[in-house]
Amino acid sequence: MTPAERIRRRSVAPGQVALYHLGQAGFCLKTSAGTLIHLDAYLSDCCHRLFGFKRMSPPPVTPNEPAPDLVASTHAHADHLDPEALPLFARRPQTRFVGAPDCGPVYASAGIGPERTVLLEPGAATRVADVELRAVDADHGDLAPEAIGLCVTTGGITVYHTGDTGYAPERICPSLPGPVEVMIAPINGEFGNLNAEEACRLAAQVRPRVLIACHFWMFVEHGGDPRSFLAAAPHLAPGVTAVVMAPGEELLYSSADGIVGRWVPDRLAGTWQRTGAAGSGEPVADG
Ligand SMILES: [Zn+2]
Repeated sequence: MTPAERIRRRSVAPGQVALYHLGQAGFCLKTSAGTLIHLDAYLSDCCHRLFGFKRMSPPPVTPNEPAPDLVASTHAHADHLDPEALPLFARRPQTRFVGAPDCGPVYASAGIGPERTVLLEPGAATRVADVELRAVDADHGDLAPEAIGLCVTTGGITVYHTGDTGYAPERICPSLPGPVEVMIAPINGEFGNLNAEEACRLAAQVRPRVLIACHFWMFVEHGGDPRSFLAAAPHLAPGVTAVVMAPGEELLYSSADGIVGRWVPDRLAGTWQRTGAAGSGEPVADG
């Protein structure tokens, strides 16, 4: 079963959300109503053509399969708002686009009209189906002064994607709308981003139940060390479950029980295997 089929078939109970790592800072969320949200999905190899940054792992899904209901971007950099995937997302008329103010010109140049887009400054929110998206502060410096973080709330669960940001808890924490259950943060420590320790320190203040590392191992030039993230988390963010997901990995989160399960695709066997601990996991039977 491909990741696209897995996402399509996944049933999500009320009080749960399913998360899929798409590589780099990209995640797909599936809600209990079946709404699919792509956050910062980078699915082409345009950064290779634009900047010489070659992708180091293939995208686990394509822009059309599964087709997201909502495509959200924390800022307009091509690894977060993919200009080559955008026209493919837009082929489906129902798909909506939500992003930071600097995403507006990119939507326009892809021929996506304002009737399908919402631009959010920190503090602003919008609703699509059973999902509320709220923009919060981020500090990506001069690289993207309009960059935001996004809080995605569905079924009472808030997933907070910091977007690309440096360590700025004094700006970020007051802008959060309420308790966060799952936090996603970069760990590469370059290009204006948190490093592994800073991601853990920020999480210690945000106090999510789960902290998922992102923004590593997609481009050689971006750096990132998930091993040091896993080593630092118990000391710097005690009580927070630190998670490193493989590209395509599925994580099912429940408000009542925390992480219900995690599964990785075995492409050769065509199966999905349960994975356990934050990093390599312990061997377990197919599930
Ligand atoms: Zn980035």
